Amino acid sequence: MTDLFPAPSVPRVPVRGGGTFPVRRIFCVGRNFADHAREMGATAPASKAERGTPVFFHKPADAIVIDGADVPYPPGTQDLHHEVELVVALGADAPPGELGRDAAASLVVACGVGLDLTRRDLQAAAKAKGLPWDTGKGFDHSAPVSELVPVADIGTLEDRTLTLRVNDETRQHGSLHDLIWDVPDILIELSKLYALKAGDLVFMGTPAGVAALAPGDRFAASLDGVVTLQGRITD
Ligand code: MN
Repeated sequence: MTDLFPAPSVPRVPVRGGGTFPVRRIFCVGRNFADHAREMGATAPASKAERGTPVFFHKPADAIVIDGADVPYPPGTQDLHHEVELVVALGADAPPGELGRDAAASLVVACGVGLDLTRRDLQAAAKAKGLPWDTGKGFDHSAPVSELVPVADIGTLEDRTLTLRVNDETRQHGSLHDLIWDVPDILIELSKLYALKAGDLVFMGTPAGVAALAPGDRFAASLDGVVTLQGRITD
């Protein structure tokens, strides 16, 4: 059978040291830092025992924007927000059955830094009505991501911090020690809901300081000491 039209190409993220990472799915975690949960008006769990279950949502794979590329200001919003996040890249399929922490960690082949761009006005309207977040989160160009760095070149991830500067002003800064759900925790929870596979990216949630971006703004996101992501919002 012949395709009715040329098949769309798979989005690919460059990998430091060579090669590319073909993207299958983008999973995202909401409310994974207590300070950000509070700034959004949610109650942060008092302890890990009280954290319940994580908040998950998706972006389409073709929402990826490669480091250095312009991000067009999206339609349908007056309040585009930045959320700087750790991005983990899975290089293997999860085995069947419940994942253990070591098996979960071993799925991760590389990490980067990304922005979970958000149409905050649309997300807030959806939240107020108890409706899904899709139009606020899963839009075109909503997932700028850095090159991916192999885990062997990163060392201890938990000791790293995230920083976002906009027009040379620091907007967000947080430590990965403060993740409510760490990377193995999240992969274990995701694998209870979805078959995780090589090519999946996970945006791990943002620390406090989310705020608006405007056309002309330049952003510089950093997984400090590991990798940076730069770009510009255009009309
Ligand atoms: Mn986010």
